Amino acid sequence: MSQAKTAGQKHVPLRMCVGCREALAKRALVRVVRDPDGVRVDPGGKASGRGAYVHDRRECWEHALRGPLEQALKTEISAADRELLVGSMNRLAPEADKPADPPPARGGAA
Ligand SMILES: [Zn+2]
Repeated sequence: MSQAKTAGQKHVPLRMCVGCREALAKRALVRVVRDPDGVRVDPGGKASGRGAYVHDRRECWEHALRGPLEQALKTEISAADRELLVGSMNRLAPEADKPADPPPARGGAA
């Protein structure tokens, strides 16, 4: 099996995940923004303020929240903000690589 991957010459802006430091297209990342009220997730990606990007992968959030995210935003994340960020992290699937649903078991029951 071969995968035809014709990406073309379109320019896709890449952003770096602060968790794993991989560069990805923006749509694969969640933007976190620092504004005067604190640090929060920016679902629209348009809030003003200093932003950082984290993969929509739980392990990247876990890593990012251990320090790299604060460094990227050049701020300290307060306990309350951290809780909110952990809350949105918990809405992500624990292992994004796994297929969402297992294939249906077919065949007669023994
Ligand atoms: Zn990542």
